[in-house]
Amino acid sequence: MTTSLSPSSAGASGRLPRIAVLATGGTIAGSAPDATNTAGYQAGVIGVAQLLAAVPGLDAIAAIHAEQVASIDSKDMSLALWSTLAQRVNALLASDDIDGVVITHGTDTLEETAYFLQLCVKSAKPCVLTAAMRPASALSADGPLNLLNAVTLAASGAAAGQGVLVAFNNRIHCARDVAKFSTYAVDAFQSPEIGALGWVQDGRVEFQRKALRPHTVDTPFAAAQVWPQVDIVVSYAGVSRVAVDALVAAGVRGLVIAGTGNGSIHGAVQTALAEAAAQGVAVVRASRVGSGHVMHNGAAKDDALGFVSAGTLSPYKARVLLLLALAAGTSGKEALQRVFDTY
Ligand code: ASP
Repeated sequence: MTTSLSPSSAGASGRLPRIAVLATGGTIAGSAPDATNTAGYQAGVIGVAQLLAAVPGLDAIAAIHAEQVASIDSKDMSLALWSTLAQRVNALLASDDIDGVVITHGTDTLEETAYFLQLCVKSAKPCVLTAAMRPASALSADGPLNLLNAVTLAASGAAAGQGVLVAFNNRIHCARDVAKFSTYAVDAFQSPEIGALGWVQDGRVEFQRKALRPHTVDTPFAAAQVWPQVDIVVSYAGVSRVAVDALVAAGVRGLVIAGTGNGSIHGAVQTALAEAAAQGVAVVRASRVGSGHVMHNGAAKDDALGFVSAGTLSPYKARVLLLLALAAGTSGKEALQRVFDTY
């Protein structure tokens, strides 16, 4: 479904930035039986036209072209929908009629989609994701302001060339760094250790720093039609090797281990992963801690075991990069380590 919202002030003069809003569902499009219900709601049931109608003053900021790409709870995000989304974003940004894209998304997997797009969007034009923690039907719903700020950011010249951004609770986050850290708080997203890139406040966009890792037009990655199987396993007290063995038997091509602490792995799982690596499964060592980095520990461990280290990527984002690298035909731990050291 597509909708166009013409700017009231600039009319057809084209002086306002033309922003495509792609809706995918999520709590921002969620509805509950009453205004004080922020837990028992259904995500992804409100259409994009209604989301836009709830944002006062939007037509003074941008001429909006709206599309309903999906209507899902983002817990159910699929690789097929990622490919569809990347193709649609790339097609829109390649058009002279569009100056930037805003994607409304559920918060649960937003950080994964954002990093996927950071690596697969091939344009320097702004691409901004936003979401909400409270359904659209809630008292003090956060969706309308987040959407207003996302459009304000996408319409600002400042967002060009900054990679894929997340506008949430007045802050601007880099797609690579941002993660969800709260189940219900309105201030659910943080970029741990590194911090946000800037903020959007009362219509003003301010960047304090830039992302340094190559992104968008400076990566070789693209959305695929057929994806290799890449999964995540976790290390914890008393863990067995059953999950790793089952995934290897199922033909997994890549495994990310969410290790304890600085990426340490229970002996039983480490042995299973080393055996998997010896059989050609790409194994990436990340941490379940939620902040900090996992350093490549060289000849003594990673190299001997055949592991790649994830650096500052969370296990979920490491999986996205491994998926794209394997889909692009990268193989071997040295080549994969270069990918992880670069992107
Ligand atoms: N389960 C919802 C989703 O990710 C949560 C949200 O959007 O806040 O779609």
